[in-house]
Amino acid sequence: MKILVINAGSSSLKYQLIDMETEEVLAKGLCERIGIDGHLKHSPLVGGKPVFNEDISLPTHSEAIAAVIDKLTSAEYGVVSSMSEIDAVGHRVVHGGEKFASSVRIDDAVMAAIEECTPFAPLHNPANITGINACKAVMGDVPMVAVFDTAFHQTMPDKAYMYAVPYEYYQNDGIRRYGFHGTSHRYVSSRCAELMGKPIEELKLISCHMGNGSSICAIDGGRCVDTSMGFTPLVGLPMGTRCGDLDAGVIQFLMNKYGYSIDEMLNILNKKSGVLGVSGVSSDFRDLDDAAAKGNDRARLALDMFHYWVAKVAGSYVAAMNGVDAIIFTAGVGENSKDTRAAIGGYFGYLGVTIDPVANSKRGEDVMISTPDSKVKVFVIPTNEELVIARDTRDIIS
Ligand code: ADP
Repeated sequence: MKILVINAGSSSLKYQLIDMETEEVLAKGLCERIGIDGHLKHSPLVGGKPVFNEDISLPTHSEAIAAVIDKLTSAEYGVVSSMSEIDAVGHRVVHGGEKFASSVRIDDAVMAAIEECTPFAPLHNPANITGINACKAVMGDVPMVAVFDTAFHQTMPDKAYMYAVPYEYYQNDGIRRYGFHGTSHRYVSSRCAELMGKPIEELKLISCHMGNGSSICAIDGGRCVDTSMGFTPLVGLPMGTRCGDLDAGVIQFLMNKYGYSIDEMLNILNKKSGVLGVSGVSSDFRDLDDAAAKGNDRARLALDMFHYWVAKVAGSYVAAMNGVDAIIFTAGVGENSKDTRAAIGGYFGYLGVTIDPVANSKRGEDVMISTPDSKVKVFVIPTNEELVIARDTRDIIS
């Protein structure tokens, strides 16, 4: 069985074609600048075919999907002989609200429900819907499945997901913590249980997804019990460009003082804040590491704040779960920055954690980076959201 995994953004579309017999990625790629001009990078990963990396006209997502199918099936760049070899499509959908606690096969009712969640994710859900519709237009009645970023967090208890604002905003408007990166937290936590050789039902885990966007998730017995992102992905940790937790009074103060509109204010908090805003250097942790090494105090401060917040939120989840068996680092920063892991690991002495510098220097593999005698284990586990989407799609259509 071969499954196409699609992650559609407003002007981009990422894809992977996965052979489910071996879970091997046959090809992957990215369409960019959809609706502007268009660019496709298509990388076949089997059969020794060349990479296609060119500007092509992509007026809408339909042309993008058509171009992807064309490349996947072409003699020169292809990895399958025809579209009929693609058994199903799994779509990443950002927001499933309270309607979706797991992945589902897409039909008209599901499309309507995803549409109803759009006010919660006004930039992301419409792009996901466009991607699904484009796939339907190009691929006809190939079965399709939606996998939601929010679904894994639907097991949170009400004491964790409620905001302390008048209750009617929850009842009438759905104002609550939803959480994001659920597919990633789900993947690394189940992989961690495999690596520990224990049933996930017996484990208390803390997953730290640290990329451009970052969130932490407390997973007790395989179920999410708390997470740091909220109603939107803006809160929790300071991120590449997002502010993380912030007193709402700051928003009022700055809007009054500088005359910002709410859109301008949110643009600052989403795009110009986080480690970029504090350092004035970059949102990329590699640039911050370089600048800090050269003595840039604000780059150092931005990094210190990030480490402190990860440690502080993770510590609050130790309290929430009354213990922890393992802590997981994943995503761009978590998988690649040994200095970040060592700095955060330094806060976990009270848990009996010692980071092993040799193990912590490894890259690109699942690895335990705590010393064997550490009471709480620390792992680096490269995330694989596409594989979760493909597996869910296979399970649902089979
Ligand atoms: P996204 O949230 O967009 O999926 P990723 O998980 O791919 O992001 O993470 C991207 C981030 O990973 C980059 O912005 C960069 O800060 C960080 N990163 C990648 N490689 C390294 C590295 N070697 N050292 C430190 N940070 C890195």
